[in-house]
Amino acid sequence: MKFTDMGLSPEILEGISRLGFETPTPVQAAVIPAILNNGRDLVALAQTGTGKTAAFGLPMLQMLDTNIKTPQALILCPTRELCMQIARDLENFAACVRGVRVLAVYGGADIKPQLAAMVRGVDIVVATPGRMVDLLRRKRADFSKIKRVVLDEADEMLNMGFEEDLEAILSEVPDGAQTLLFSATMPRQVASIAKKYMKDPEEITVGTRNAGAENVSHEYLVVHAKDRYRALKRLADFYPDMYGIVFCRTRQETQDIADHLGKDGYKAESLHGDLTQQQRDRVMKKFRARELQMLVATDVAARGLDVNDLTHVINYSLPDDLGSYTHRSGRTGRAGKTGVSIALINMREHNKVKHIEKQLGRKFVQRAVPTGVDICQARLAGLVDRLSVNPEPGVIDEILPSLCKGLEGVSREELLRRFASMELQRMLEYYSKEPDINAEPLHEGSHAARKKQTAAGGLVELAMNIGKANHLSPKQLMNLVNVADRSSSVEIGRINITHMQSYFEVPCAAAQAVIESFAKSLVDFEGRRVSVSLAGAGNPAKRDEKRAANPYRPNRPKNKPGPGGKKPGHWQK
Ligand code: AMP
Repeated sequence: MKFTDMGLSPEILEGISRLGFETPTPVQAAVIPAILNNGRDLVALAQTGTGKTAAFGLPMLQMLDTNIKTPQALILCPTRELCMQIARDLENFAACVRGVRVLAVYGGADIKPQLAAMVRGVDIVVATPGRMVDLLRRKRADFSKIKRVVLDEADEMLNMGFEEDLEAILSEVPDGAQTLLFSATMPRQVASIAKKYMKDPEEITVGTRNAGAENVSHEYLVVHAKDRYRALKRLADFYPDMYGIVFCRTRQETQDIADHLGKDGYKAESLHGDLTQQQRDRVMKKFRARELQMLVATDVAARGLDVNDLTHVINYSLPDDLGSYTHRSGRTGRAGKTGVSIALINMREHNKVKHIEKQLGRKFVQRAVPTGVDICQARLAGLVDRLSVNPEPGVIDEILPSLCKGLEGVSREELLRRFASMELQRMLEYYSKEPDINAEPLHEGSHAARKKQTAAGGLVELAMNIGKANHLSPKQLMNLVNVADRSSSVEIGRINITHMQSYFEVPCAAAQAVIESFAKSLVDFEGRRVSVSLAGAGNPAKRDEKRAANPYRPNRPKNKPGPGGKKPGHWQK
């Protein structure tokens, strides 16, 4: 179906065409004709980000009589942000329609201008329930001409304790008005509101009931509770292009995590109920402008945030109810984009994941926490991506000869090695000392599983940056270790040589000394500087050049390569 086949007016079609809307989303295809063609009440089960605002907004705008001075339509929604967003969207949809007046009415702002605007005359009121009740009590809102009422994110409004306010508002609306209820989930409370205030509503479900958005993948990482923050940092390091929301359960936790991230050099700030409205606005402005990479938020504070293009939602701790999880994960994967919702859980929280999986009807995939090696490889691959962009001819070409002269005699490989090490100095140093923090194996026989067994038996696995591609044999690997660490003869356990990397086990007590000896002794093999680090989790068989199918890499927009967007090849540390 096309927008032009729906009976929408040319002015409205022009408005949405300016916004770049070409094809109706499923919720729009179902809801727009239903509203335009009959006055029946409607319950629509649809996730956030599915295009609900236009679904109810376009027919609502079309059916306005601009000669009437008092409101003809009322939209109730849970938060100030959503309220402002809906009002903004409606104004955009109506850009080519003459004389439409939309008023946003919300708490936390001076009530006087809202009262004055109401008196001047309004067609559509978009309101949060608390402030709307306030206006009604002051007898400043005339609802006698209301023909249409929308309850948007009804489940959230009820979750937030607005039931009484909703009832007070709905009892003021004339009997014959059409009521449209939108909700991501249908808990008992929402069903009872629908039963009480709606007449024989038509029910429209877009997607599966309670299902998360189709283009969001759900993942979880298992770490000990003490390592949660470390795991979060690793995700942020692994995905340097991450633009996401980190959900916490309490305001205190939200503030603490954001403070720590800030101290550790990440662009992150918190959003929670203890902030003043100005502080919230300031944080949101920075986040929208992408001055922040991560917004650390409570569920309530993040309701209704309309930020598209989020690559990740991180559940720093899982919520107790499905509704909150659906809302959290629905913040990503919006407007046709793909996204990832990642939960950090401890070993006792498997049941929670299983429970959400069952209710959501979507499978969660367990991922290993990226190790230092994974992160450095991904960052190096990101560097390769950046380097593959050929700069425009310019001043650089004039200074190039003197640059070449200064670096005469340095081989291409050595130059790249120095450049990469300069770019990633801090990261490489930090992660060379960081252990694997996966709390449990991914599955029986996996690399992580084996690693745990060997650690228990007193052995730990190290990774070397050369492999079959460099014609390395197990015997040569042992020789290299002995050459690097002359002071002791280290016992070497199992050896696994893959195309670009090699893995070998050494006693835990000797591991650090072996790593340091390679760092100090500058061992070369076939012209390549050899380095050794703690091996990470993940399947070693898949870890060589097939790394292009990186398990941590989110689905990115096609033209936007991620940090792991290129195979690491010989860029490994
Ligand atoms: P909503 O669920 O109303 O918050 O919409 C989510 C996002 O999708 C908003 O940024 C809208 O501007 C965008 N959007 C809604 N409908 C369409 C459409 N038919 N085509 C393209 N984008 C849309």
